[in-house]
Amino acid sequence: DLDLPDISVAHSNLTVLEGGNVTLSCNGSGSPVPEVDWTVNGLHSINTHQSNVYWPNIHSINLTLVNVSRDDNGFVLTCISENVVGMTNVSLQLAVLFPPVILRLDEPERRHHTCIEFTVRGFPHPTLRWFRKGHEILQSEYIRMEMEHYQDYLEGCLTFQNPTHYDNGNYTLVASNSLGSVTKTIYGYFLEPPFIEDEGKLFNCLFTFVMSIAVGLAGFGFVFLIVIFVLINKYSRRNKFGIKGPVAVISGEEDSASPLHHVNHGIVTPCSLEAGPDAVIIGMSRIPVIENPQYFRHGHNCNKPTTYVQHIKRRDIVLKRELGEGAFGKVFLAECYNLSPTKDKMLVAVKTLKDPTLTARKDFQREAELLTNLQHEHIVKFYGVCVDGDPLIMVFEYMKHGDLNKFLRAHGPDAMILVDGQPMQPNGELGLSQMFHIATQIAAGMVYLSSQHFVHRDLATRNCLVGNGLLVKIGDFGMSRDIYSSDYYRVGGYTMLPIRWMPPESIMYRKFSTESDVWSFGVIMWEIFTYGKQPWFQLSNNEVIECITQGRVLDRPRLCPKEVYDLMLGCWQREPQQRLNIKDIQKVLYALGKATPVYLDILG
Ligand code: AMP
Repeated sequence: DLDLPDISVAHSNLTVLEGGNVTLSCNGSGSPVPEVDWTVNGLHSINTHQSNVYWPNIHSINLTLVNVSRDDNGFVLTCISENVVGMTNVSLQLAVLFPPVILRLDEPERRHHTCIEFTVRGFPHPTLRWFRKGHEILQSEYIRMEMEHYQDYLEGCLTFQNPTHYDNGNYTLVASNSLGSVTKTIYGYFLEPPFIEDEGKLFNCLFTFVMSIAVGLAGFGFVFLIVIFVLINKYSRRNKFGIKGPVAVISGEEDSASPLHHVNHGIVTPCSLEAGPDAVIIGMSRIPVIENPQYFRHGHNCNKPTTYVQHIKRRDIVLKRELGEGAFGKVFLAECYNLSPTKDKMLVAVKTLKDPTLTARKDFQREAELLTNLQHEHIVKFYGVCVDGDPLIMVFEYMKHGDLNKFLRAHGPDAMILVDGQPMQPNGELGLSQMFHIATQIAAGMVYLSSQHFVHRDLATRNCLVGNGLLVKIGDFGMSRDIYSSDYYRVGGYTMLPIRWMPPESIMYRKFSTESDVWSFGVIMWEIFTYGKQPWFQLSNNEVIECITQGRVLDRPRLCPKEVYDLMLGCWQREPQQRLNIKDIQKVLYALGKATPVYLDILG
């Protein structure tokens, strides 16, 4: 007559409000009548109380929990029934309901943290909402909440993607469940506001200042302005083709005080640096601009015999179709006769400049000389000019696949065309080995430019060209600002800066150098590995300036191997001297490219 114990449990309610009571009853039957017991080790609720009742062949034990604690939420209560034959047990889980509490809400550590960390407790799990300036923050790719659920804890982060000083402010967390709601606010301070002159204000100040002087000195000023006007006309050489040719500073090692091509109207004739800086007009102010000391200093132009630019006859150029439009005129595909000794005619790209002034003509000539002198397999080939009549024409080798930025986008995951209403990937995605190949070629072009002490100042994928067989060349020296105008930031009246490609010293002090070109090369690598995304696409120009000047760098692209991101970080060292050298970068890229298997061979 020996029997294994049988067990049954009964309870009032296992889901209980914090502070409430629970009674559980466990009945063990069997032969012989078993011992029955509740295991309560580790239980936090006070006043645990057990009472035994014996029936003829049942042993019953009641457990009462009084003033149930939230710390017992999820606690597993086990009843054990045992006799000489063996043991049986049964388990129940307690659920304790309580209103939410915010245990932790941390201010982000300035500059280093991009998230507000929190820990909230409550059961049932509270819902969390964030508010700023009285408005609920809706989740987006820029601000999102990430959290983990534990028994009755929620732990996580309100994460910001590249926050700026616009994100500084009070953030309120509201946690609610069916039992209540709790609120806590902290101040999120992500970045200091930038110390950038408000160009608009500066312009207004200068304007007011100049106007009051002009009114005061009306009579005299009139004569004075005429003199200045005559002088500017005489000396100023507006660089219509925007070539950054000779651009830098006259004294010291640093580069120009002026930002980019459009303001390189400075007039320093080659070999006449002693003549001192000329000036360029930005808004109403005149800012000294000295052109290209490095370039001239190291034997270009000064020591070289005069450059003879090849002249091409207009009748030898037959326009075929428009390829694009730059800041200074249209670009056409054309056939050019009598250019090559081996071919009767060849395809070329011609850049046109319509209705040039006398100054523009002189610039044109000078820029043609500069391009004639820059010859390298990874710099687009310049064939010559056509200046008999209007428009003025520069003739370049034709690069079949156009600019590199367009090319990257066309070979990225988002490139789709519709075929019979169905989306199709038209070109095939670029693989890693192709990306290395592209980057290595641009680096090779840059090694050449730096050997010529030539500072480009606007290196970006939009200024590189792609030819047959994935041949890539640095192909533009400042004409793409119209098509890609969102890549540039207008300061004052005329200046357009490619700030997203610029290092802090160029943004803050308008210093350009071979090292600032290296920074831009880091951004080019980022563009390549993101299939042509705009750097900091999610930020406004002011926010970009703020991020870069305060030491933020672009995130690692999803596809980018660690070794390449390390190279990018090497290009984005804050101190120009600490940046990698372009020769070393080229070597590493070449080695990485060789070690990477060719996944997909696009383009013959
Ligand atoms: P750019 O004025 O140099 O920015 O040229 C405007 C557009 O014309 C570029 O975005 C290219 O798509 C195209 N283009 C410029 N130069 C060439 C070239 N040498 N070969 C083929 N396309 C070119």
